[in-house]
Amino acid sequence: MRSLKSRIIGGLAVLLDGIAIVVVGLSAVGAAAPAAPKKPFQVTWLGHAAFEIASPGGTKLLIDPFLKDNGKTPQEFKDLSRYKPNAILVTHSHGDHSADAAAIASSSGAPVIGVYEWVSDLAIPDKQKLGGNVGGTFVVGDVIVHIVPAVHSSSPSGRPVGFVLSFSDGRTLYHTGDTWIFGDMSLIQEIYHPNVILLNVGGGYYGSDPKTAALAIKKYFTPDAIVPMHFGTFPGLSIESDVTKAFAGDARLVMMTPGQTRAF
Ligand SMILES: [Zn+2]
Repeated sequence: MRSLKSRIIGGLAVLLDGIAIVVVGLSAVGAAAPAAPKKPFQVTWLGHAAFEIASPGGTKLLIDPFLKDNGKTPQEFKDLSRYKPNAILVTHSHGDHSADAAAIASSSGAPVIGVYEWVSDLAIPDKQKLGGNVGGTFVVGDVIVHIVPAVHSSSPSGRPVGFVLSFSDGRTLYHTGDTWIFGDMSLIQEIYHPNVILLNVGGGYYGSDPKTAALAIKKYFTPDAIVPMHFGTFPGLSIESDVTKAFAGDARLVMMTPGQTRAF
């Protein structure tokens, strides 16, 4: 019979001869690294799922630009020529997320980041098409854009996604896109630990109602701020009182109004 010797290395029992390794102790926990100083980023809600994000370094990202025909977008934000983003991010093809993406790309010269098949079909120059897919990463100025899953649809091409933006101080913002609650949200938390979540609470026929969206936060995330979106735009979607009721008592809830800018 083959004999096994073992020795202890810092609380780890290692069975020699390459047969097996068994952890029997825990190593000492080192002192936490000092947190990087917070550098505020600006979030402007343009109504529905549309946001403009300005990074600490001045990078501007326009997400889900549905503006001209968006009844919740304030008049001064409907003029597409005012937008000069460094990139336009589109979660999926539906008009309430993508309607003005190509027009703003044409007027500003900004690239469009979205799922490859959908971006490829846009009537914009090829050099402005930044198609990716789940797990993909783009660097835009001082921001890293990560594409994450969403549970919804996209027609006629591509698939629905969300975006996580990583800023230079290590903090992150998660735009959920259109989605229901899903188990892989735990991986989005584990990998990106979002500090600010722009959360779809629209309900109706199309996605998570506010109570289910609140459950997603409770089960999977530990953000500093929760900004509800995609409610109240059309008949059938949830309304503001549904949202405040579902999140009652949660001090992290930040109710914005279209046209408003908040620093985080
Ligand atoms: Zn939508």
